[in-house]
Amino acid sequence: MSVRSAAIGVDVGGTTVKGGIVAMSGEVLDRLEHPTEAQAATKTTIEVTEAAIARAQEMGYVPVAVGIGAAGFVDVLSGSVTFSPNLVYDDPDLADAVAARVNLPVMVDNDANAAAWGERAVGAAKGANNMALLVLGTGLGSGFVSNGRLVRGFTGAAAEFGHTVVDPAGPRCNCGLRGCIEQYVSGQAIARMAREAAQHNADTSMISFAGSADAITGYDVARAAREMDEVARDVLRTAGRMLGLAMSNVVNIFDPEVIVLGGRVVEAGEPFLGPARDELARLLSEQKRRPARLQLSALGRNAGIVGAAALAIDEMSRGGADRDPEREGR
Ligand SMILES: [Zn+2]
Repeated sequence: MSVRSAAIGVDVGGTTVKGGIVAMSGEVLDRLEHPTEAQAATKTTIEVTEAAIARAQEMGYVPVAVGIGAAGFVDVLSGSVTFSPNLVYDDPDLADAVAARVNLPVMVDNDANAAAWGERAVGAAKGANNMALLVLGTGLGSGFVSNGRLVRGFTGAAAEFGHTVVDPAGPRCNCGLRGCIEQYVSGQAIARMAREAAQHNADTSMISFAGSADAITGYDVARAAREMDEVARDVLRTAGRMLGLAMSNVVNIFDPEVIVLGGRVVEAGEPFLGPARDELARLLSEQKRRPARLQLSALGRNAGIVGAAALAIDEMSRGGADRDPEREGR
């Protein structure tokens, strides 16, 4: 392979589609992003992929494959998005739609799976054959590597840990269920809990930051918590403890060597992460389990790009050998 080869990594999220030119070493050579068109995520993905390929060529690199991490449930064999609670794909056959335009091998996986693969390849869980990634953004994304392989399940829709239910009578989730863990720890959930708390606490600084109780966002909560607003700190403490519970459940299923936390919600820092760490330690010690190793994401906003590119390179070099033989000829 030429030293000037590169892969294109694309990360399809609810607010932006990010594209990166990624060297074979995992280094991000350049990146770009477009706002996700609300009803046309496939269209935006094509635009970003084409722009990234053009940029790679301008830089003197030869793009050899495209990897896409897409928010939603993904059938890895067909490269189709089968269900996406938080985003609309105008063409759900994402791999085919992109491949028809770019004339390169295209591989699609779930966005959090891709990010987990990136952290495991060159990030915070480098070399770990058993690792978990929880991405706390608008929702709660997750990816798990077990015995050196991504956990994808029979149809690719595994590892949707955010939609495991912790209270069947809890708040409605975009996936159709009630009381998913996502509804207690995600950015959306923290904003909802803060708005509820502000209804009974007119003097919280979250209201003055946001303008009104109804307008409070996760950023207002984090800012107020930093300034020692007790209502905001209480919201983050509650969410943090639920994250600790979520991680304890992850340990009980996967026994990972390391759990990586990513997404912009972790930027809330200690008022959120402290209670999460304490609750996890408490639950593990109740079970006489060893303490868990927690790491913050090393790749940050680039995790999805790097991981998607790495998956595409792996897929290409293995000739698709990562596919489950039981499902061939389906
Ligand atoms: Zn759900």
